[in-house]
Amino acid sequence: MVGFQIGAASVTRVFEMIDHAEPAPEFFLGDFDEEVFARHRSWLQPRYLEPSTDSVLLHMQSWLVRTERHLILIDSCCGNHKPRPGPGWEHFHMLDTGYMDRFKETGVNPEDIDFVLCTHLHVDHVGWNTRLDNGRWVPTFPNAKYVMARAEHDFWAGVAKDVEAPIVPRNIYNDSVLPVVEAGMAELIDGSGSVGDAITIHPAPGHTPGHFHADLLSQGKRAMFIGDILHSPVQIPLWRWSSRFCVDAEKAKESRREVLALCAERGDLLIPGHFGEPHAAYIKAKGDEFEIDFDVGNGR
Ligand SMILES: [Zn+2]
Repeated sequence: MVGFQIGAASVTRVFEMIDHAEPAPEFFLGDFDEEVFARHRSWLQPRYLEPSTDSVLLHMQSWLVRTERHLILIDSCCGNHKPRPGPGWEHFHMLDTGYMDRFKETGVNPEDIDFVLCTHLHVDHVGWNTRLDNGRWVPTFPNAKYVMARAEHDFWAGVAKDVEAPIVPRNIYNDSVLPVVEAGMAELIDGSGSVGDAITIHPAPGHTPGHFHADLLSQGKRAMFIGDILHSPVQIPLWRWSSRFCVDAEKAKESRREVLALCAERGDLLIPGHFGEPHAAYIKAKGDEFEIDFDVGNGR
């Protein structure tokens, strides 16, 4: 099981699936330029870019953090049995993966989780917030507080109320967010805030309106969980390139620059939502340019 030790805190990866159905880089990344991208293609293949299809490879995974006092799950992947009908959504529609078995292999029970952090409320970050129980969506982690940014929650709640909006974003809110809100288990955060004894969250809008990053600090060691502030490691050297799934590409770019600079300055282990092996990276800065250090071991 992949994991990192950050001071007294341990971080364990809970794997859901590899998404082989994402678009090729020229469709995935705005500002795409083949000549620039070509310089990176060889190191991206086959781990982060599928050679046969040229698809951007994304790992669907959660991060389980054990601090001295709390158990925290960061981003809850896609979930099982969730209706995501229509073209473009096939790879998320009515999934049946072994995620929960792998979750339990960590030795943690769903009842033990104190906090579920949703960096943002996209389909692949909230799915296991709930599970199907006799035809009803119920919170998977019955004793947890589900932490999300108020700006993020309110944006998607608005989409869900809009009968003209596409069905899938409405389904995502209604089956994976609303049940925890109605159960009184959602904790909506304005701006920055702290979660338990070792994590703070900080707004990083752009990919979505209320996206945040979660910073772990334990015994002077740091890791930063950044959700989808970047999707592919190529967006570290090419940090100016936002994905086409970002609602505000300019803000996303600024948030990306800020987190990369912070990781480089403080020595945080950068833990994104979707990286393939080794699933995390250290960052080196040279002025406004950033390099990847994949020599992450079990953390430093
Ligand atoms: Zn994602």
